[in-house]
Amino acid sequence: MTSRDYIELDEKYGAHNYHPLPVVISWAEGCKVRDPEGKSYYDFLSAYSAVNQGHRHPKIIAAAREQLETCTLTSRAFHNDRTGPFLQKLCEFTGFDMALPMNTGAEAVETALKAARRWGVERKGVENGKQEIICAEGNFHGRTLAAISMSIDQDSLINYGPYAPGFVKVPFGNAAAIESRITPNTVAVIIEPIQGEAGVVVPPDGYLKAVRELCTRKGVLFIADEIQTGFCRTGRRFAWQREEARPDIMCLGKALGGGILPVSAIVADREVMEVFTPGTHGSTFGGNPLAAAVGIASLQVLEEEGLDERAETLGNIFRAGLSKVGCPKVRTVRGRGLLNAVVFDEGFEAWNVCLALRDEGLLAKQTHGNIIRFAPPLVISEREMEEALEIISRTFRKIR
Ligand SMILES: *Cc1c(COP(=O)(O)O)cnc(C)c1O
Repeated sequence: MTSRDYIELDEKYGAHNYHPLPVVISWAEGCKVRDPEGKSYYDFLSAYSAVNQGHRHPKIIAAAREQLETCTLTSRAFHNDRTGPFLQKLCEFTGFDMALPMNTGAEAVETALKAARRWGVERKGVENGKQEIICAEGNFHGRTLAAISMSIDQDSLINYGPYAPGFVKVPFGNAAAIESRITPNTVAVIIEPIQGEAGVVVPPDGYLKAVRELCTRKGVLFIADEIQTGFCRTGRRFAWQREEARPDIMCLGKALGGGILPVSAIVADREVMEVFTPGTHGSTFGGNPLAAAVGIASLQVLEEEGLDERAETLGNIFRAGLSKVGCPKVRTVRGRGLLNAVVFDEGFEAWNVCLALRDEGLLAKQTHGNIIRFAPPLVISEREMEEALEIISRTFRKIR
C-alpha cells in the first residue's frame, strides 16, 4: 500500500477530529522518520513533545522488551514489583514527596483538579461545591470535559455544554489579574509555564515567581501543567525551574512514556497528596508494570544524556539560526530550549509552509493558522540541527 492508500483509510474509517499533514510515517528512529515510499524527514513535532528521548530509544525499547517477558498488568488491586520503583524514581527526578500515576495528560490534569478541590474542602474549609480554580486564557489542558471547561478555544468548546463550573479565566502572563480574582473559595491556580498549544507563548520574566508567591500568600495551590514543557524540553528539567517557582502540584505526561506508551502522573508533597484515600481516585492502567518500566527508562535517559542542557544549547543555536533567515513574513521567533515557534503575520497561512517543509524533508505543524512550532527530539545532534536549519531557511526564503 502507498501513502495515499493509508490516508484514504484514515479518512474513510476514522472520525475526522484531526486534520493531519498529508504524510504517512511507517518507520522512526532518533529525530528522523520515514514514509512507506522511503522518503526521510526530520521530525520537528516530536508527537507534541512525547518523544523528547527520540524515537525508539534503544534503552527504553530494551526496558519495555524485558518487562514484556515478565508481567505487564496487575491493576492497583495488587502490588507489583515495578510501580514502587517507578514512583520512587519519579519523585527523585522531580523533587517531590509523592506521585500518583495515570495514563494520559488529560487524566493527570483531572487528578490535579480533583486533588485541589478536595484539598480546598478538607484543608482550607471551603464548602464542597463552592471551590474555584483560576486558569489562564489560551490554555490547553487536554480534552476532557473539565479541561475544555477551562478553555477559551472555540473549536475545543463548541456544542459540548454544559461545561464544568468552578473555573475562573484570567489573561495569561499577568499575576495581578490572578490576584484580583482570588476569593475565599479559590483553591488553586493552574497554568502552563509556557503555553505550548497556544503557539509557544512565553510569559514575561518573573511571572511564574510572582504566581508562586501570590499562591503562597493567599493560601491557594499552584498547579503547573508541565505535560508539554516538562522533561527537559525547555532547557530545564521543568520549565518552572527557570524561576525557582516550585508548584504545589505538577502535572506530567507525554515524554514520561518515552514515546512508547501513555504514562502520566501528578507529583506533590505529602500534605497535598494525602487528600487521596483508598477508593477516592484511581485508574485501571495507571502505573502498570509495563508503563512503570518504560517510565523508569525514560527518566534515566533524560538524566544520563543530560537532555536539559542539550535542549538549552541547541535551542540557542536554533533561534540564532532562524533569526538570520530574513523572511519578510516572519514576525517573531520565540521559545525556550527546544520548544520554539515562528510567528508569521496575522492572516498568513502557515499550512502551505508546512507542506513545503515536508517536501524538503522536515515535518512541523502549524497552530492557530499563522504559527509553526519547532520541537525536535532532544537527542538531535548539532550536525542534524544544522541540516534541519538549512531546510527551514531554504523553505522560508521562497515564501512570498
Ligand atoms: C498534551 C497536553 C495535555 C493533554 O495530554 P493528553 O495525553 O493528550 O491527554 C495537557 N496539557 C498540556 C499542556 C498538553 O500539552
